[in-house]
Amino acid sequence: MNIGIISIFPEMFNAITKFGITKKAIKNKLLKFYCWNPRKFTNSKNFNIDDRPYGGGPGMLMKMEPLQNAINYGKKILSGNKKIIYLTPQGKKLNFNKLKKLINIKNIILVCGRYEGIDERLIISEIDEEISIGDYILSGGELAAMILIDSITRFIPGVLQHKLSSVEDSFENGLLDYPSYTRPRVINKIHVPNILLNGNHKKIYYWRLKQSLGRTWIKRPDLLKKIKLTNIQKNLLNEFKNEYFISYKEK
Ligand code: SAM
Repeated sequence: MNIGIISIFPEMFNAITKFGITKKAIKNKLLKFYCWNPRKFTNSKNFNIDDRPYGGGPGMLMKMEPLQNAINYGKKILSGNKKIIYLTPQGKKLNFNKLKKLINIKNIILVCGRYEGIDERLIISEIDEEISIGDYILSGGELAAMILIDSITRFIPGVLQHKLSSVEDSFENGLLDYPSYTRPRVINKIHVPNILLNGNHKKIYYWRLKQSLGRTWIKRPDLLKKIKLTNIQKNLLNEFKNEYFISYKEK
């Protein structure tokens, strides 16, 4: 997968190119990462990439021309299917399903706005899709782009060492992940559940599935409404609810 970034702050992306899974994916050539600074694509003498908005109002807007030149440059370099995405609070909210669709696109160019945003005509002429990371305002699209890149990288085949890592993550099967523990066995009088210590993988599987269903029911009941549970899952969830109500009464 190739990801190209259009940003006036390319150094910010060191946070993902120099660390963790994204760094490894780039090193192993599973992810190719490009960054194009619109300042290098402006015809203005003083490398201006912003200007005042027509009609007045606060702040500055990113000009169309440097952004469009940078996008066109990126399009020439990247061969195969492409999608040009503008990170914006006005876009559709990024979620698991959206990422799974994006993973099928060979080349993604992410446009990062700054200031009060970008000239509307760039959106009309060049942008295929607008994506938001949530209903709040960031000062720039870079952090949003990094969130998208980090989360999509986990889906690139070969990136995660253990094949099952992403399969067991929250949202993968419509449920939240089950609780996990590591050494030591007891911390602050809280014990690791015995079932995880007995080596019975079938029992561990069903216990985890029950916890997954249970914590989705507690923390994200909206997710449960979106999936059709099997009879086994229904029974496990009922067991969880009974145990939960009993422990609630005991408190
Ligand atoms: N005036 C714009 C509006 O209300 O739609 C917000 C501009 S914001 C200060 C500057 C840039 O940050 C945007 O152009 C966009 O690229 C990025 N940005 C801000 N919030 C975002 C969000 N929730 N998701 C994705 N990108 C965001």
